[in-house]
Amino acid sequence: MHKLTLKELSAQLQARKISATELATLFLDRIEASDLNAFLHVDRALTLAQAQAADARLAGNEAGPLTGIPIAHKDIFVTRNWRTTAGSRMLQDYVSPFDATVVEQFNAAGTVTLGKLNCDEFAMGSSNENSFYGPVKNPWDKTAIPGGSSGGSAAAVAARLAPAATATDTGGSIRQPASLCGVTGIKPTYGSVSRYGMIAFASSLDQGGPIAKTAEDCGLLLNAMTGFDERDSTSLQRPREDFTRSLNQSLQGLRIGVPKEFFGAGLAADVEAAVRGALAEFEKLGATLVDISLPKTELSIPVYYVIAPAEASSNLSRFDGVRYGHRAADYKDLADMYKKSRAEGFGEEVKRRILVGSYVLSHGYYDAYYLQAQKIRRLIAQDFQSALAGPDRQCDVIMGPVSPTVAWDLGDKADDPVANYLADIFTLSTSLAGLPGMSIPCGFGQGEKNGKRPVGLQIIGNYFDEARLLNVAHQFQQATDWHLREPA
Ligand code: GLN
Repeated sequence: MHKLTLKELSAQLQARKISATELATLFLDRIEASDLNAFLHVDRALTLAQAQAADARLAGNEAGPLTGIPIAHKDIFVTRNWRTTAGSRMLQDYVSPFDATVVEQFNAAGTVTLGKLNCDEFAMGSSNENSFYGPVKNPWDKTAIPGGSSGGSAAAVAARLAPAATATDTGGSIRQPASLCGVTGIKPTYGSVSRYGMIAFASSLDQGGPIAKTAEDCGLLLNAMTGFDERDSTSLQRPREDFTRSLNQSLQGLRIGVPKEFFGAGLAADVEAAVRGALAEFEKLGATLVDISLPKTELSIPVYYVIAPAEASSNLSRFDGVRYGHRAADYKDLADMYKKSRAEGFGEEVKRRILVGSYVLSHGYYDAYYLQAQKIRRLIAQDFQSALAGPDRQCDVIMGPVSPTVAWDLGDKADDPVANYLADIFTLSTSLAGLPGMSIPCGFGQGEKNGKRPVGLQIIGNYFDEARLLNVAHQFQQATDWHLREPA
């Protein structure tokens, strides 16, 4: 049962072959037996209460496609009942008085919450080693990182501890862990998923999305989690759409842009081989490959690591020990309380970003760094537009690797922030442009260590082209079985 897709689980529930309560119990037992550190908060009684409510809906024929489906939420989405820590000591005992919009939407759809998933502190990281609650292990090889910041989400789905999970992507945190754990994830167009109740990191980049086994499941999850929210000032006002509507379209004539900047010197040979193998598979499905260039790709690292810390330094100023979150036990006066509470509550990486962010926003440096970064951000977005839009458009979607290497060993880059930042090279530009992007499993690296290490293929589309991305991914998943492979 734990191997089934959402589509299949939903059919089992509707046919009364299994109850929501039985299904939730099965996953709770798997979570309890797991040693991956993927879950931070589990509460059997709360989960089973939701499952019973779902069973009542199923019995009363008031069920939708996700009613009774178990799901786990990244611990960056606030939940009224489960604690929400954002992977930080700062929020160790925090219980939100309200649910994030995404959580509300899933509750309304009748999903059953399995618990909250580990992540890098305030979603800052690429390895999940920045969590105050310890790293998550990659289920394929427990000596490897799962990727980050949504490492708990990707590991939980890969290890079949949950059939689906929510995640967030600011500079790659849905796509990169999905890639390194061999599961499917999509970051939709910026503004599609409400940020209300999603603990803020870099507000102009943060975007929620799903991680699941298949593209079809991601479509079902997007159907539930997108939509206008007046409580989020950047939420898009668009008519509802069915993201699964184009899944079965043929790929005959599809033009796939292959950016030369995504296949340069930094790309590991085993990742390149798996990605090229996937591109060849798409040719068999009727697509043609077009060489394109995204010349500003390289600049996405310095630009992102100015803009994201700048916004983070502003967002994290709310954690002052006064309103909520950690407060130091002993202090002399108000200023001392701020300092000690923040010094104790935040981890190394978060402090580093607050310092960088405050620096680039300070008087005299704003124009030189922050403003400059915003200008280059525009140029990065224009790169994509000249490939994907307008009368001279070269391609319908863009494909390449997600991560330059397979998952690295736990501890390997733990003391080297810049090495972590460089590994984000292929995901940052999509986020800076606000475009939708996804990762689907497409093979494994060479040189197996204590287990295989998966490779993901990145698929990027123009704004609002999620249904096409899911179609492209679904067709690949109908022709291949990488997405069905499971860790030992
Ligand atoms: N690895 C990137 C960072 O550390 C992206 C994180 C994210 O997308 N949340 O900022």
